[in-house]
Amino acid sequence: QPVVVFEHVCKRYGNGTLGLNDVTFSVYPGEFIAVIGPSGAGKSTLLRSINKLHNVTEGRILIGGEDISKAKGSHLRTLRRKIGMIFQNYNLVYRLSVLQNVLHGRLGYMGSLQGMIGRYREEDKEKAVELLKEIDMGDFLNTRAADLSGGQKQRVGIARAFMQEPQILLCDEPIASLDPSSAKIIMDMIYSMASRRRIACLVNLHQIDVAKAYATRVIGLRKGRIVFDGPPGDMGDDV
Ligand code: ADP
Ligand code: ADP
Repeated sequence: QPVVVFEHVCKRYGNGTLGLNDVTFSVYPGEFIAVIGPSGAGKSTLLRSINKLHNVTEGRILIGGEDISKAKGSHLRTLRRKIGMIFQNYNLVYRLSVLQNVLHGRLGYMGSLQGMIGRYREEDKEKAVELLKEIDMGDFLNTRAADLSGGQKQRVGIARAFMQEPQILLCDEPIASLDPSSAKIIMDMIYSMASRRRIACLVNLHQIDVAKAYATRVIGLRKGRIVFDGPPGDMGDDV
């Protein structure tokens, strides 16, 4: 049973731009999908549609078999709990520690952080520490996020995403702000953590070589349309 289904999805922005144009595909558990294409092709529009950060104009999106167009309020929050996100610019709360970001990160970007710091379950703290050790950040639990390097910040972003035990992981240009050696470490971590847990992963990338190195499947976008969908070995030169 697929975890994500797009059926003839179109997304038209207010100014008339077509971000997605008749996009149809399904994602299964354990797939590691690179979404590639030039700037403006619709990669982030596609990821943002899965998380319902905006509504699509036409077509249907199913998450775990459920049509997300109808999901609102607490139901939408329950759906989003299945979806982890990793961002190009990390989206950490910089005045908080590494551990606090992993424990409270979701609250952070939902704007309801005030009053929640320091309130957590002991088992959640143990889980956060375990995740941070898994990505070699065990020595930085109490370091302020502001004081980390880019690669370390993204590791905290990874731990935060896995904290919610997602079924789907969306990574929007996760290595675009990193130097090549940090980028490799981050891609290795995302790949090994997602595949060990059989999480379906969609990663927006603009580097085709990185897509080829990791992806089980590549979706190529151009002007909002899918122009390629298959294993990286089948990619022609024109994707
Ligand atoms: P990519 O992530 O591949 O660079 P995007 O999904 O950001 O592409 O953009 C796809 C198209 O939609 C582009 O033409 C872009 O200019 C347009 N677009 C993206 N966001 C908006 C927006 N908020 N309002 C209007 N047009 C947008
Ligand atoms: P509320 O219903 O309390 O307003 P939402 O779940 O609608 O909270 O989230 C508000 C904002 O938080 C969203 O617009 C989005 O930017 C961000 N957000 C929520 N859930 C996620 C998530 N799983 N991944 C990334 N960003 C999220």
